[in-house]
Amino acid sequence: MTYVVLMGGPGAGKGTQAKRLRKELGLPQIATGDLFRENLRNETELGKLARTYMDVGELVPDEVTVAMVKERLSRPDCANGALLDGFPRTINQADALQTLLAEMCEKVHIAPYIHVNPDILLKRLAGRWTCSDCGHVYHVLFNPPQQAGICDIDGSPLYQRVDDTEATQKRRIEVYFEQTAPLLDYYRDKELLVEINGEQSIEQVHEDLVQAIRNTD
Ligand code: ADP
Ligand code: AMP
Repeated sequence: MTYVVLMGGPGAGKGTQAKRLRKELGLPQIATGDLFRENLRNETELGKLARTYMDVGELVPDEVTVAMVKERLSRPDCANGALLDGFPRTINQADALQTLLAEMCEKVHIAPYIHVNPDILLKRLAGRWTCSDCGHVYHVLFNPPQQAGICDIDGSPLYQRVDDTEATQKRRIEVYFEQTAPLLDYYRDKELLVEINGEQSIEQVHEDLVQAIRNTD
């Protein structure tokens, strides 16, 4: 079993990398942002609640987020572990994850930290386009699709996330430094944090991540 916690600010490339690692390592990607967006699309009560926070770049309350992850981790596809993308984002969530995994006689094995400076995070968020069907992530300059606005993989239209407005992007980066960055020391103290240079090409970041994760085996 391998439980990987992908750390990094908004726009660091967690989703981009999780999608590649998922194939290579055969582990499911559990992206709390994607799960909230799925709830939003399905107009569930959870989705309606999450939206009030997501639209302004704030975090959805811990209790709600942890309950959603608990349910997700209990599904059969997580039997061999999981790639956690965007969770935990607070110390409370990290403690809750530790408890959840301990109940399954499991633990976090590694917390790779994809390090990207804030000015670059903003540029990445500003140019991000996502496939409306498969969720594949592009960037207008750094990782463009072959045909503008169309997904290379399934031909579906690309969209810009509603929370990728300038004001919300800035707030998300602030919230990251206030509430999530303290987790770097949390995992460093447990000797689980491995820093990866996230300002390299997508391929190089992927290779560094694979090597770091394989080294934990
Ligand atoms: P996160 O999930 O951490 O918020 P994403 O994976 O959505 O970040 O990536 C944010 C944006 O940055 C996307 O537009 C993506 O195409 C782009 N991106 C991701 N990794 C890199 C990289 N190594 N170099 C340049 N652009 C990248
Ligand atoms: P992301 O897709 O990771 O960029 O997340 C988009 C938004 O979903 C965030 O700005 C938060 O509002 C919400 N969100 C995602 N993951 C979490 C989490 N672990 N805790 C609280 N809110 C979250």
